[in-house]
Amino acid sequence: MKSYLLLVALILSAAMTSGQQNPVAVDEEPHHHVLFRNEFVIVIRATLQRGEATLYHVHAHDSADIELVSSTTTEQLLGKAEGSPDTSHAGDVSAESLKEPITHRVRNVGSGPMDIFHVEFLQRPAQASSQAAARVSAENTSARIYNWVIAPGASTAMHSHERPYLMIAATPMRLKMTAPDGRSLSEEVKPVDFHWIDSKITHTLVNDGVAQGQIVEIELK
Ligand SMILES: [Zn+2]
Repeated sequence: MKSYLLLVALILSAAMTSGQQNPVAVDEEPHHHVLFRNEFVIVIRATLQRGEATLYHVHAHDSADIELVSSTTTEQLLGKAEGSPDTSHAGDVSAESLKEPITHRVRNVGSGPMDIFHVEFLQRPAQASSQAAARVSAENTSARIYNWVIAPGASTAMHSHERPYLMIAATPMRLKMTAPDGRSLSEEVKPVDFHWIDSKITHTLVNDGVAQGQIVEIELK
């Protein structure tokens, strides 16, 4: 009996493989490059060249996205028809809540690459969520997104992060971070540079450069 079941399992798995459409976990999909993971988040850079498509893959968590370039893609849910083209713009931020896992593939139907900074939220800290640190640009049940587009020489309002968060550079920038006591730290950031910060921080972000810059903070609720 056992060997019969094993045989059935082998046949099924062979059939699925030959059809290619056995979905993979998002972090095993070849166009999804895992940059970082801990108990709270998986950080992924998803890239598709013009004309490329992902394999069918499964998303099982709430997520947040930063569009690093403008791109046009289609989405196809497993067993459904391919959707119509959808254009995203460089600098767009979004957050999605998932009630149940979805399985889909994405095709780049635009004239240039697709390049997305994608975060999946595995769990939230045990203690209750606090107030937002600043104006919320997008949110889901797991996280809030603060989107700082900062003119040269300008700075954000001072704000406090009570929760663990990711700070991500969406553009190049000479970034200066200033604490309430006046101490500051300057660094030259480039797109996709990011930090995971799990201590309480109060700061302003200053654009010390000559071009507009964008910093995104994705904070756990
Ligand atoms: Zn901040």
